[in-house]
Amino acid sequence: MADLYPLAGRKRHPSDLVVPVGGLRLGGPGGLVVIAGPCAVEGEAAFLRTARALKAAGAHMLRGGAFKPRTSPYSYQGLGRAGLRILAAARRETGLPVVSEVLDPREVDAVARVADVLQVGARNMQNYPLLRELGRAGKPVLLKRGLSATMEEWLLSAEHVLASGNGQVILCERGQRLIGEPERCGLDAGAIPLARRLCRLPVFVDPSHAARSRDLVAPLARAAAAAGAQGLMIEVHERPSAALSDGRQALSLLQFRGLMAELSRLMAALGTGLAQPQI
Ligand code: PEP
Ligand code: MN
Repeated sequence: MADLYPLAGRKRHPSDLVVPVGGLRLGGPGGLVVIAGPCAVEGEAAFLRTARALKAAGAHMLRGGAFKPRTSPYSYQGLGRAGLRILAAARRETGLPVVSEVLDPREVDAVARVADVLQVGARNMQNYPLLRELGRAGKPVLLKRGLSATMEEWLLSAEHVLASGNGQVILCERGQRLIGEPERCGLDAGAIPLARRLCRLPVFVDPSHAARSRDLVAPLARAAAAAGAQGLMIEVHERPSAALSDGRQALSLLQFRGLMAELSRLMAALGTGLAQPQI
């Protein structure tokens, strides 16, 4: 059979890819990596407060969109470059690596100057000019799975980045569109072990965009970790009801602290544990 994924697959390189990010090791046998933060960067003071609280709660990396892909052009679109400056300040102050989305091939360099990991959103999974540009970014790429993308389409998109010269790709399942169910996405738990069998890339899960509702986030996070996810990305907001985007799925800081405690117990029971937090 043809080798569909010569770079992502395990035929030529059987061992897991480990992506080093600021002292953490994403993928491989290490502990579960937890990325946390608001959907969007909304302002400096709030983001810095949240970043400090997340670090204290044990988060390994921060997330926050400066450029937001919104279904409606009338929804909050993010702070753009001003948001990148806020991410840089949070990174400096906490020492935590940052992941942020890049929407446009023309903005890859600007986002790559600040972010430790560049996120490709679900809607852009098959934006091939963007994927090719990310091949030259010099920073790891977190590739979300499209809302209805097959495993083959997802892995071939990863292959585009790898073939363009960037060997550091992390996959992220974020829930699939459900027939007759507009209120949430279906987390494809089976995709986690399957992606890990078919390819060597780290497999992360974003339970927040699958859940679309905060009470479902923790159970989906536990399910993903139990199914073999090597990292989770979770939306957290200091005041979820006031969030400018995705507030209904954002955990409060208190809820996030509770989830970290649960994940710590779960991962210990599974024999791995959480990744060692950054000093
Ligand atoms: C996000 O992470 O805020 C986001 C927009 O995710 P997705 O592309 O998976 O919808
Ligand atoms: Mn979001």
